Amino acid sequence: VAASAVQARTAAAHAAAGGMASDRARQALVGRVQAGGVSDKRVLAAIGTVPRHLFVDAGLASQAYEDSALPIGHQQTISKPSVVGRMIELLLSGRPGRTGMPLARVLEIGTGCGYQAAVLGRLASEVYSIERLRGLHDRARDNLRPLRIANVHLLFGDGMLGYPKGAPYAAIIAAAGGNDIPQAWIDQLAVGGRLVAPAVTAGGRQNLVVVDKTAAGIVRTELEAVLFVPLKSGVA
Ligand code: SAH
Repeated sequence: VAASAVQARTAAAHAAAGGMASDRARQALVGRVQAGGVSDKRVLAAIGTVPRHLFVDAGLASQAYEDSALPIGHQQTISKPSVVGRMIELLLSGRPGRTGMPLARVLEIGTGCGYQAAVLGRLASEVYSIERLRGLHDRARDNLRPLRIANVHLLFGDGMLGYPKGAPYAAIIAAAGGNDIPQAWIDQLAVGGRLVAPAVTAGGRQNLVVVDKTAAGIVRTELEAVLFVPLKSGVA
């Protein structure tokens, strides 16, 4: 056998092993997210398709498939995968998704590195994701480009104002928590839509808050304590 043929075969084997390793890593993460309490098969499948190591610095790639938040620069973090799963599961609950995508248009506040936007892109017809830090907005754009997810639209701006042009939204999800839920988000939610966001609640702690906009009015539910970066106004 010629040396070049051996070399070619070795390269192919390495490429296949790399692909399999990444596949195994993603499946391991799905297991961890499931262990973290997420059970919706659609959410788990979506998490299983997104290569999370592409969203963190090369130096942190070995930790990308752990169920933990990691720094992404600018004092921000990539959210913990089981929390991403939990929040999206809340958005999907009660939606059978007979045909096509389970969710119609979704607004995400706090793109960060773009990981959650990529997961949402597998579950919603259109995702509008807004980020207030130019550096992270640009970085998310670079991260998402090779994945070729045509239905995820990245916007640079103050997400506290929502994004009226895309409204009404079937779902709104925030990855940063303020003292309350901005009224603009509730205004831009469709009737029948649901919003999930961290916010400071009566006890002074940050909790997950679910807001359902029904024909009869707004229903607000406070869930478990969480730890998200602060929601800030304006851009930088
Ligand atoms: N969605 C990310 C998590 C990003 S962390 C993930 O997939 O892991 C939360 C992000 O919210 C930070 O990047 C922060 O800059 C951003 N943020 C905070 N306040 C904001 C606002 N008013 N508008 C838009 N983005 C905001």
